[in-house]
Amino acid sequence: MKIIDSHIHFANREGFYRAAQAAGHENTVEHLLDVFEKENIVGAIAMGSGSGRDDKGECLPMTLDLAGTLSLEPYNQPGNIAYCCGLTSSALTPENTRRAVERFEEHLRHPNCVGLKLYPGYNHIYLSDPVHYPFYELAQQYQVPVVIHTGDTATSTALVKYSHPLTVDEVAVAFPKVNFVMAHYGNPWIVDATEVAKKNPNVFLDLSGLAEGNFTADWFWETYSGYLQHLQTWLTYLGDYNKVLYGSDWPLVNIPTYLEIIRRLIPSQHHERVFYQNAKELFSRLEALGI
Ligand SMILES: [Zn+2]
Repeated sequence: MKIIDSHIHFANREGFYRAAQAAGHENTVEHLLDVFEKENIVGAIAMGSGSGRDDKGECLPMTLDLAGTLSLEPYNQPGNIAYCCGLTSSALTPENTRRAVERFEEHLRHPNCVGLKLYPGYNHIYLSDPVHYPFYELAQQYQVPVVIHTGDTATSTALVKYSHPLTVDEVAVAFPKVNFVMAHYGNPWIVDATEVAKKNPNVFLDLSGLAEGNFTADWFWETYSGYLQHLQTWLTYLGDYNKVLYGSDWPLVNIPTYLEIIRRLIPSQHHERVFYQNAKELFSRLEALGI
């Protein structure tokens, strides 16, 4: 079965090298492509990383740079790695928003840019804040999904009230033609994320980042059986595996182990959709990349 990893990081950043080691990986292009080959992962979507600000502190799209600083013409990252441009919402001002939108548009004109990524918890700004509206309009214009970091955050300076899955409901209703992906299934607010995805036809869920590090699938299933059963209960309640996408959050977790955990989580008749087809349909630009 072909697999698309709908949520990875592909960044030349100190923390990711350490995280990769802890997960039994190396944060290098060669290593990742080797793992992809072994696991039949035909493509991946990297979530933009970086400071998201230029030298003057103005908003700069966060992209990917593991294969050197990104250049678009020619594209100098592996062809099967697509990306979502990350938005540092807190860098936006009324004066610089227009320039920021233009910068995002430069990326969206490139086939490897397949979506936008928002980090409301880290930026202390609600998704419904009008500062984000031009970016939702851009996503609608270019017909790309908006991925949102939902649920727990990696730093204690973030505020989880802004990354709570219920905050997605308001923008999903305000922008019915834009598809939204709740990254990390809003964990630990799985019940709330399920409701928002069930209610709104334009809201999807990715399964990335539900575990971190290196361990065996058996150990994880034994240790976290309650957590995984809770997730299975609410996936069953959701009742729509067309809305659920596999993603790992590499380099934070061991990919072969994580694949095994998610294979056990999802009923086998839905594997084709969750591991491949849903991402291919939602991120429709992947088709042109041959993924
Ligand atoms: Zn991530």
